[in-house]
Amino acid sequence: MKSCDTTPLVAYDDALAQLTAGIEPSRQREAVPLREALGRVLAEDVDSELDVPACAMSSMDGYAVNTGDFAAAGDTRLLLSQRIPAGSAGAPLAPGSAARIFTGAPIPDGADAVIMQEQVELDDDGIRFSVRPPAGDNIRPAGNDIRRGDRILNRGQRLRAQDIGIAASIGLSALMVHEPVRVGMFFTGDELVEPGEDLAPGKIYDSNRYTLDGLLRSLGCEIVDLGLVGDTLAATCDAMLGAAGRADLVVTSGGVSVGEEDHVRVAIERLGELRLWRLGIKPGKPLAYGQIEGTAFIGLPGNPVSVFATFCLFVVPVIKIMQGREFRKPLSLPLRADFDWPRPDSRREFLRARLVADTAGDTRVQIYPNQDSGVLTSTVWADGFVEIPENSTVAVGDRVDYLPFTQFLE
Ligand code: AMP
Ligand code: MG
Repeated sequence: MKSCDTTPLVAYDDALAQLTAGIEPSRQREAVPLREALGRVLAEDVDSELDVPACAMSSMDGYAVNTGDFAAAGDTRLLLSQRIPAGSAGAPLAPGSAARIFTGAPIPDGADAVIMQEQVELDDDGIRFSVRPPAGDNIRPAGNDIRRGDRILNRGQRLRAQDIGIAASIGLSALMVHEPVRVGMFFTGDELVEPGEDLAPGKIYDSNRYTLDGLLRSLGCEIVDLGLVGDTLAATCDAMLGAAGRADLVVTSGGVSVGEEDHVRVAIERLGELRLWRLGIKPGKPLAYGQIEGTAFIGLPGNPVSVFATFCLFVVPVIKIMQGREFRKPLSLPLRADFDWPRPDSRREFLRARLVADTAGDTRVQIYPNQDSGVLTSTVWADGFVEIPENSTVAVGDRVDYLPFTQFLE
């Protein structure tokens, strides 16, 4: 394997295709109660066995009538024959009468419209009104929302609050979901110190562990965290085997360059199979991937911004496929640039960016002024990436592709 600085750059699309090619969805499934289903991935399609609503319902507080009883001219007067609050069944409407009815109550047989209470005057023995609504007015027909046999949720979708709500609306109390993907992680570097500890000269606080932890949690992964690992081959091999034995995927940061302190590469070569790329993207040039004893492995670079970007671009697709979801490249929003980017790069760039309203009220994209891959502030300031194609420049007002961070992490 060649891994020196003369190996060609692997383009983003090629790298993504190769990285995801061998990844299989997890086959482990479990039924979970609705309240535990948020953020889980549905393992089977859900079809409704009910009409929702099950029968025609009033969408207003008012009076259920039969439009055939309207007076030929002038006011219509009708006796009040019954009162139907939500939750009760009511009786068939007596001919020539009206039923007092409330929102969500079933329309009685024989009624075909509901007159809003604001349009009705009460008499001693009934109601009087001048409006002549068409049949069907203020009635939600049976199956207005869902018809029996409709597909309401699809296998492979990650469940949001409204998805769980709709499952409840057809009476389901549990959903069949994929078991969470288990991700083992560790962080290499003798310079790293945990937050809360003293910072000796030459040391830095470990931030990648916390960024990665949050990213994995927001995707609903289970985390096996092996913490900090020193820059020795033995320690790296131990951590690698420990993580691989307990996880579906191992993700690490640092140690994937070709320096003599970079042991991740050598550890994987010893224990499994390694591919090392010089990626044609910026940030995030070196990225290692492969497998250890059948467990997929992705070695991210050490620079904190590179970790964030390569996670979004390469780890997210792998996790989504493992979760049983379909991976599609996030949709970009074409927006006008509020910045100049005068120096073309042979690598595709993912600039940290955010939206801003210009003086005319149109949305434009700004970039963080310091795009160094060690400047984590850029990711905190930003809400997304601007994707700049290889060998391209941008001038203020040009259209650029904006990729919101949320699209990767949903
Ligand atoms: P490496 O790829 O190991 O050469 O690391 C590249 C850069 O990222 C170095 O400046 C490291 O100090 C820094 N770095 C590596 N791991 C971490 C970490 N966990 N948190 C913050 N910075 C890191
Ligand atoms: Mg290092």
